[in-house]
Amino acid sequence: ASRKVINFAPGPAKLPEQVMKQAQDEFVSFGESGISVLEMSHRGSDFLDIINTAENNLRDLMNIPDNYKVLFLQGGGNGQFAAVPLNLMNFKPGCKADYIVTGSWSAKAAKEAEKYGQVNYVLPNMKDYTSIPDVSEWKLDPEASYVYYCDNETVHGVEFHFIPDTNEVPLVVDMSSNILSRPIDVTKFGLIYGGAQKNIGCAGVTVVIVREDLLGHAQPICPTIFDYRVQAGNSSLYNTPPTFSIYMMGLVFKWLVQQGGAHAMKDLSNEKSSIIYEVIDQSNGFYCVPVEPTARSRMNICFRIGSKDGNATLEKLFIEGAAKKGMQSLKGHRSVGGIRASVYNAITIEETQALATYMKEFKRQNH
Ligand code: PMP
Repeated sequence: ASRKVINFAPGPAKLPEQVMKQAQDEFVSFGESGISVLEMSHRGSDFLDIINTAENNLRDLMNIPDNYKVLFLQGGGNGQFAAVPLNLMNFKPGCKADYIVTGSWSAKAAKEAEKYGQVNYVLPNMKDYTSIPDVSEWKLDPEASYVYYCDNETVHGVEFHFIPDTNEVPLVVDMSSNILSRPIDVTKFGLIYGGAQKNIGCAGVTVVIVREDLLGHAQPICPTIFDYRVQAGNSSLYNTPPTFSIYMMGLVFKWLVQQGGAHAMKDLSNEKSSIIYEVIDQSNGFYCVPVEPTARSRMNICFRIGSKDGNATLEKLFIEGAAKKGMQSLKGHRSVGGIRASVYNAITIEETQALATYMKEFKRQNH
């Protein structure tokens, strides 16, 4: 079957063609094994090689120091909304945590954390999710066990372009939608996590990178499969892991290494997002980005058509016209509407240019 479609989906999202082809080649029989990855034991040598290679490549790609554990878990981002407070809120007395809420995903994480301890909203006056307020307005609690934020809000298209300074309080970040899209200094974080289904693989596996000194403080009610210390002690094999998802992610890591790693992805993401934002900024208001320029996402480009709040007729027409040209999944999240173009690592410059060309053409015909 052909893949004559450009998939701008927010996640699960496009995977590199090369990765898909390799998975296809190896699907029925992996290497000399005579069986599929789907059929092999998670404790056999073939799978152990797959998971260890994936971890080693991730360590290289992100330059992860030895005092951090890498876990491959199930439960997705939502699983981590619970796992993070269950493991870390008790790190200090008082069972408190700071949440910097800048979009719907961090909001959901904060709500979930309220079940397990005291949540302090660092930005209590957020009205809408279109900016990251200046740090002078943040109300951080020095007694917090950790400070939590979402580096890229997938629904609202709000991305941090700096690492918050928490004055030694462990920093926890959700990088589900921008992990490995640029180099980061892992040592600045207590914990980094991300679901694989956008930038680094398919659904089913969540990467957790956690500093060793944060392990061992789980609340007694923490489910064992979510206890980071237990999973770290068992090399993520306490329970049967999502073997095929880990295999797919491992293929994406190899592809990323070949592409030039996080530095190359940073250049690519900057270039792709600039192509689209430039069309928007030069459209004399025909296209508008609700998000402030300093917080615009390089991954999920959210915009309106016709006016600041969007013209429903034009937006519908835009999505239909795009679909006719093979450009799919450009509809904004149902909670915000408008258009969202997700340009994760696997999306090429050419595919991005095709969208830019269509946007210019659509404006000419409809303004
Ligand atoms: N965090 C972010 C930034 C997300 O974009 C998403 C989902 N798209 C989630 C968390 C939730 O992930 P999941 O659906 O895997 O639970």
